[in-house]
Amino acid sequence: MDLSTELQIAKTIARMAASVCHNIQSELVDPSQKAGREPVTVADYASQAIIGNGLAENFPDDAVLSEERSEDFMLLLNDQQRALVQRFLTDALGGYVFEEQVAAWLDVGKDTQASRTWVVDPIDGTKGFLRHEHYCVAVSLLVDGEPVLGVLASPGFYRDEADAPDDPGALIAAAAGLGATIEPLFGGEPVVIRASANNDPARATFLTSIASGHTDMSLFDRLEKALKRGPDAPVRRLDSQDKHGMVATGLGDVLIRLVPEETYREKVWDHAAGYVIVTEAGGRMTDVFGQNLDWTAGSRLQNNRGILVTNGYLHEKVLAALKDAMA
Ligand code: AMP
Ligand code: MG
Repeated sequence: MDLSTELQIAKTIARMAASVCHNIQSELVDPSQKAGREPVTVADYASQAIIGNGLAENFPDDAVLSEERSEDFMLLLNDQQRALVQRFLTDALGGYVFEEQVAAWLDVGKDTQASRTWVVDPIDGTKGFLRHEHYCVAVSLLVDGEPVLGVLASPGFYRDEADAPDDPGALIAAAAGLGATIEPLFGGEPVVIRASANNDPARATFLTSIASGHTDMSLFDRLEKALKRGPDAPVRRLDSQDKHGMVATGLGDVLIRLVPEETYREKVWDHAAGYVIVTEAGGRMTDVFGQNLDWTAGSRLQNNRGILVTNGYLHEKVLAALKDAMA
């Protein structure tokens, strides 16, 4: 399967969507609330519409699984917010965009049955977006239920790196057999990335969410104790699949995500792009019990619980410690 054309197009689409998010961020953005009190902004809809438009133009026969829905666009946003989405899309695409067009792009590929499914998180880490911290546009492709291509367009990727080049943001991309690369978000040469070779859990950089409801922090503390990590062992908390990107580039070594609520199942768009990038970079990703991820069960990873991403070298050690910590 040669995915180089798909990869090129997905990179262009994700980059355009991230550019729109970045432009919207510089204006006042009032979030609305979805069910479950998750925030959603005009940028989530503008980003998804841009991506829907790009996918419909290039891959009209493929299915699309996206986080946002046109019903919510009409219901949750007021007239002024919907007009703002139209304005940003009109600017980005260079032709007047009608509200009906936005709604249609949001739902592109929703009812299509196909062996290929594009998975879209228009803004992964909306909370980070609102704080002007970490967020990314995540686009991936599943073929017969297996993620084979992933792109993360991350305007804030280097935001808290002391030696970062003046915060250009990053585009991280991978496809099965083509490896994983990073390049400046708005243009530059791709560079091959590899996960770290760190084999010492005590010195590993652990990554987890900022939102306290997204990871059981008492379990996280027990895991650190089980791995004999001292008080100075590095831990970084940030939003979005930038965490997966950090493991893939060696900026982090271990990512744990275990929502305390027993019944919570991970959403496919929160991990599919990151999965391809991490595995192509030599890392490993399973659930917290070490089970392979089953991507065939719809919009959630119904048959798995939690997520463990590592550089590969640390995977078995962390799984063993997790077993103790969860006992
Ligand atoms: P993170 O950036 O690690 O905090 O994860 C962000 C993702 O968490 C979002 O994209 C949502 O899909 C997901 N999410 C939203 N609300 C919840 C919740 N109550 N519990 C767990 N995950 C959630
Ligand atoms: Mg998300």
